[in-house]
Amino acid sequence: MAYDNNNVFAQILRGEMPSYSVYEDEKTYAFMDIMPASKGHTLVVPKSEAENIFELEESYISAVAKTSKLIATAIKETLRPSGVLITQLNGSDAGQTVFHYHMHVIPVYSENPMKIHANKLEDKALLETTANEIKKGIG
Ligand code: AMP
Repeated sequence: MAYDNNNVFAQILRGEMPSYSVYEDEKTYAFMDIMPASKGHTLVVPKSEAENIFELEESYISAVAKTSKLIATAIKETLRPSGVLITQLNGSDAGQTVFHYHMHVIPVYSENPMKIHANKLEDKALLETTANEIKKGIG
């Protein structure tokens, strides 16, 4: 299947759709998942047109990994989860729903079991304050 330029993350990258920004550099953009699995669930996307890992050029794979570590570290420091899950889905059979490559950075809290992602829209004010909390942890 060819990359669809109208997917929601392509629209976010072009600034055509709003997002709760956490971090940006030359090759990546990180923002809050609006239907999170837990408080602080952040997505990291490459600024490159690729549906999945098979299409993504190596330098962007490294760039996304580097940004994911930066975000995970900031989440660990600011939100104090007991664990952080970092995962990435390829193809609808694997559960992928948005067809622009992305890494999930999901805080895990021992006292609060994770929810199913992409299920329920989160409160906008909470997304905004959480994005600001995580930003404080980025050096
Ligand atoms: P996946 O199932 O790996 O393709 O994950 C896609 C993720 O994107 C899900 O966790 C959704 O909650 C999330 N999502 C969908 N639309 C948006 C959006 N407009 N802004 C932020 N996150 C979104």
